[in-house]
Amino acid sequence: MPSDDASQQLAEVRTAIARAAELASRKVEAVTLIAVSKMHDADAIRPLIAAGQRAFGENRVQEAAGKWPELRETTSGLALHLVGQLQSNKADEAVALFDAIHSVDRLSLVTALAHAMDRAGKRPLCFVQVNIGDEPQKGGCAVAALPGLLAEARAADLPLAGLMCVPPADLEPAPYFALLAKLARDHGLDCLSMGMSGDYETAVTIGATHVRVGTALFGART
Ligand SMILES: *Cc1c(COP(=O)(O)O)cnc(C)c1O
Repeated sequence: MPSDDASQQLAEVRTAIARAAELASRKVEAVTLIAVSKMHDADAIRPLIAAGQRAFGENRVQEAAGKWPELRETTSGLALHLVGQLQSNKADEAVALFDAIHSVDRLSLVTALAHAMDRAGKRPLCFVQVNIGDEPQKGGCAVAALPGLLAEARAADLPLAGLMCVPPADLEPAPYFALLAKLARDHGLDCLSMGMSGDYETAVTIGATHVRVGTALFGART
């Protein structure tokens, strides 16, 4: 995408976030836009960096390791978020590479991340991913298992920021966002990672603090 397009897409998404925040009487600064750059190469990412975007998301450790070290050398203040499922045996690499991990969803991963953070002396912010529609095949911990997993994460001293979800496709997302917001409130967590290209404005009106937007910024993934 040429850089003019990138900065225009970014401006449009930011305007839409500001409008949604205002509707809900929220401060726009309370919402972090994460540009999800999975499957886009460094040449597609640079125009967004040039337009001022600093928070980016990737869903695979390997892919991120291939493109971000070089991009980071040329720009300070970048924050990299892992938004995809994480295997426990990649915990060390994920902790080294990312500033936030949105996919903590099981005890074995809590344990692996806690050890990796101790070894690295670096503590990326963690979001517990909730399988908010209780869908088989979907990542995230079951709603019923959340209290137990949060207790384990706290006992392991993970830096817990909040909760993350991907609602069921093709259903109205608002009730699922509202449920995630309620779960976060019930457990004293401040951050809500929810909302993608199709529903980030809705998510912002319901309290999202982190929206994960790919297609609306980069165009379709091929
Ligand atoms: C790919 C992805 C996104 C971005 O999706 P778009 O619909 O392209 O905005 C957000 N969150 C997660 C977990 C993803 O895997």
